[in-house]
Amino acid sequence: MRSKKPETEKMRVSFDLDEVLFVSPMTHKTEPELRFPLNRIYKERLRLGTPDLIRELQRLGYEVWVYTSSFRSEGYIRHLFRCYGVQFDGIVNGTRHMKEVQGNNKTTLPQKLPNRYRISLHIDDEEVICSAASQYGFRAFQLNAQDDDWKEKIIQRAEQIKKVERIQRVHDIR
Ligand SMILES: [Mg+2]
Repeated sequence: MRSKKPETEKMRVSFDLDEVLFVSPMTHKTEPELRFPLNRIYKERLRLGTPDLIRELQRLGYEVWVYTSSFRSEGYIRHLFRCYGVQFDGIVNGTRHMKEVQGNNKTTLPQKLPNRYRISLHIDDEEVICSAASQYGFRAFQLNAQDDDWKEKIIQRAEQIKKVERIQRVHDIR
C-alpha cells in the first residue's frame, strides 16, 4: 500500500516579494513605513494588509513561506518582517533555489518551483511563473495591481485547495 500524506501536515502557501508583498506607495496602498532608523535599513514598503493576511493564514492552520527569486538574504527577510510582527515558516530565495532546485540540471527550470517545497499555493505577480504552474504541477494565484480584496481572495483560494487536497488524500489520488 502506498503511504498517504499524514493528515497533520499543514498546507503551505508562499508569497513572492517584489510587486506582491513589496510594492511601491506610488501605485499601491501600503503599510506605514518603519520608524527611524529601521526605515533606513528596511526600505521596502509592504502591501497594505500583509501582516494581517500572513497571521490570519497561520491562524487558519497554514504554513506561510516566502519564495522569491531575489537574492535578499534569509536573515534580512526575517528581520524585516519581524519588525511587522510576522514570522515566516520557510524562506526560499534565489540562492536557495539555485542550489536546491536548479542544481546541476542541464535544462533551465522555471524561476520558481513551489511544489519542490510541498507548497500548495504560490502567489506571484509574474505571468511567466503563473502560466508555468499547470505545466510543472503547482498552483498559482496571480496578484499584481492594487486590489482591496486581495486578502479575502487568497484565503478563499487557499481554502478551496485545502478541500481539494483533503479529498485527494482520502482517495489517495495523485
Ligand atoms: Mg515579483
